[in-house]
This record gives sequence, C-alpha cells and structure tokens, in this order.
Amino acid sequence: MMARRPLVAGNWKMNGLKSSAGELQKIIAGARELPKVELIVCPPATLVASFAEAARGSRVSIGGQDCHALSSGAYTGDISAEMLKDAGAAAVIVGHSERRHYHGETDAAVRAKALAAGRAGLLAIVCVGETRAEREAGHTLAVVGTQLDGSLPDDPVDVVVAYEPVWAIGTGLTPTAGDVGDMHRFIRQRLGSRYGKAEQGIRILYGGSVNPANAKELLGVENVDGALVGGASLKPDAFLAIAGFYR
Ligand code: PEP
Repeated sequence: MMARRPLVAGNWKMNGLKSSAGELQKIIAGARELPKVELIVCPPATLVASFAEAARGSRVSIGGQDCHALSSGAYTGDISAEMLKDAGAAAVIVGHSERRHYHGETDAAVRAKALAAGRAGLLAIVCVGETRAEREAGHTLAVVGTQLDGSLPDDPVDVVVAYEPVWAIGTGLTPTAGDVGDMHRFIRQRLGSRYGKAEQGIRILYGGSVNPANAKELLGVENVDGALVGGASLKPDAFLAIAGFYR
C-alpha cells in the first residue's frame, strides 16, 4: 500500500485579525519539530496573503476556507481559487458543512469548487459528513456515499477528503474509534470503486472536535491520514499537540 503523508489542517473559520500573526509564528516554530506531518493553516480570507508571506519557506502552508467555481466575474463578495493562489495559498477547504448549511451549497457546487481548486493549482480539501438526524435514521453511509460521488471531481489528483460528521463539529462529541474506522474504510472502498488504484493517493482526514486529548485515539485509526481541526487550531499549542501524534 502506498504510504500517504499525514496532513493536519486548521480551519480558523471566521476568527482571526492581523493581531493573530503571533499565533501563526508559534505554529511555524513548532512545525520545525514535526517533519513527518504536513501542516496547513486556513485563516479567514483577509489574512491569507499576509499569512502566506509570513509562512514562506516554513513547513506550514496556508489555505482558504472556500472559493468560487469561476476564476473571475460579477460575483460580489466571492473569492476565486486563482485569487487564493495569487495570494500565496496552497490549498482550499470546499464543501465544509457550515458552507453547505448556511450557504446552501450542493454537492454539484462543491464539485465545481474542487475543480476550480485543481485548475488554480490548489489542494482541495473536500468535506463530507452526516447530520445527527441522518445518523439516527441510519442513513450515514448513503449520505456520505452520495456526497462523495457528487462532490469529488473525476480526476482525484490534489484532492483530500475530510470526513466530518456534522454533529461532531464544535460540539465536543466524537464518534468512537470503531465508528471512525468503519467510515474511513467505507470511504476508501468508495474511492477505490471510482478511481481504482489512484484511490491510494487520496488522503482521508477525520474532522470534528479533535483535541490534544483525543488525537491519539482518533488519528491512530486505520485509514485516517490526518485531521481537519476547527476550534483547537486557534490555539497553537493544541494544534501542535494534535499534529505531534505524527512525531
Ligand atoms: C471543522 O469545523 O472543520 C471542525 C472540525 O471543527 P471543530 O474541530 O471545532 O469540531
């Protein structure tokens, strides 16, 4: 089996000001001790350019949290993948459940954004995950399977999947290690039937209330290639402690 390089990405969501530059510096300093793991920080769009400049030459890359499917045009308030790339980003999160929920993003829209990311030369971190109601109704596999089929591009190069059960995001709740293992195995099989051997190069992150206390258990699960971290990524020590699993 191909060895996949672990990735820990931090999603700062709508948090962070120019005065947060010191947090990034702490992450950059800590990353020097963690050569085995790829680290990406996704600050709000207002900070992408300055963070990318500050992180240049370091072990930390910068990502956006969303992008438009088109490269330019009359889309007030939107930001294209090409703009993120131009600002120094190396990656972009697409299809986060908060975007799907608050902005009505469909699988087709997410797929178009993932394609845009690839076109611009960005790594696309494509998020999928079931809600609590879907889980309780026993629809988890069907929901996640449909999201994968609809949100991922046909060419899986430079694509990372983040499995983020919606009910685990920001709640302090997490699936059991067994459940995470079942889901990641299911996702890997689904990727295999669509992409064949190319599936082996696609990393599958777990996301949802990862913190330093549960990182070992969650990241140690088979087929988990890293984490997408929300709340804990705002605290450099916590983010680095999670990534330190790959020490
Ligand atoms: C996220 O929003 O991607 C996330 C995983 O959030 P948290 O870690 O805060 O649950």
